[in-house]
Amino acid sequence: VRRSELTPEQVGEIVDTATGYATGFESVLRKYEGLTADELEELLLDNNVERCPGCDWYCESGELLDDEDNLVGCRDCRPPEPEE
Ligand SMILES: [Zn+2]
Repeated sequence: VRRSELTPEQVGEIVDTATGYATGFESVLRKYEGLTADELEELLLDNNVERCPGCDWYCESGELLDDEDNLVGCRDCRPPEPEE
């Protein structure tokens, strides 16, 4: 399948799969034969999904940023908040 041939429903399913499982990215590539890793990466970016630099899990971009828009990783990868 080519990226341009994907229906919005398929794109939604792809995003859900990629963000829902640690191996979601690979699962999508296996399921949608013909879609390259680069295309998938781009498709996810277009849907505001990026890979966490800490655990390689795909998350919504906003979840990877702190209040100052620094890339800090997903909730599981951030250093614990200092207690006040
Ligand atoms: Zn993470």
